[in-house]
Amino acid sequence: MNSEFLKSIQDFKPTDKTPALFIGHGSPMNAIEDNQYQKSWEELGKKLPKPKAILSISAHWITQGTTKVTAMATPRTIHDFGGFPNELYKQQYPAPGSPDFANKTIDLVNNPKIIADSEWGLDHGTWSVLLPMLPDANIPVYQLSIDYSKPPQFHYDLALQLKSLRDKGVLILGSGNIVHNLGALNLSNKTYDWALEFDSTIKSYIDSTNHQGVVDFQKLGSVATMAHPSYDHFLPLLYILALQEKNESVNYFNESFDLGSISMRSLVIC
Ligand code: ZN
Repeated sequence: MNSEFLKSIQDFKPTDKTPALFIGHGSPMNAIEDNQYQKSWEELGKKLPKPKAILSISAHWITQGTTKVTAMATPRTIHDFGGFPNELYKQQYPAPGSPDFANKTIDLVNNPKIIADSEWGLDHGTWSVLLPMLPDANIPVYQLSIDYSKPPQFHYDLALQLKSLRDKGVLILGSGNIVHNLGALNLSNKTYDWALEFDSTIKSYIDSTNHQGVVDFQKLGSVATMAHPSYDHFLPLLYILALQEKNESVNYFNESFDLGSISMRSLVIC
């Protein structure tokens, strides 16, 4: 399934508009483990047109009541996880920041008022994916926080205002998971029925460009609550779908589950 996708992206052309990516990041170990996810990110990185900057919306930068954008010149690598091997804590992703695009983003978005941040950096939702994808770390990366006090519609509406960044060479990356229930991790790797159902329902909404269905995912009731006891990992998807233009299609890869309750489904809009 992945090899088909990778074949299809061999034809990426450096058009004026950058692709928009949603990556299911799963375990931080995917950054350094030789596995199918790491490989797919590596391949994708080789085939993507080189952007001027990357704006990452990661499930791991959650704010309450404000939306922030990192505006520092040299963002630190944040090891925001516990209980992993030492090797993972040694990893650095020394990409420069982009104060310039951060300020452009602040100017671009009318509602809400975005605040420049000098404290955050690159959390593992961002760097664990970018390390295999763009190992040279020479493209500026900046992050936008997720204001978790706001409803899903707020995030979709905010992202609509980011569209023009794609014409300025900014690659927008959403990093989360379409199904994410850490409490239900299943070492036998058997995928739960509710996980399959939520993942395939969301895919069917995306396939029919029913973005409202995705925004209103909570209407799916108990299946949605099981898929996302908290929905920080789902919100980055809303940002990426909002960027889709009428003439663009959605290309999936990594359509599989990890430990029964993590959907690794990822997509490229171009
Ligand atoms: Zn995560």
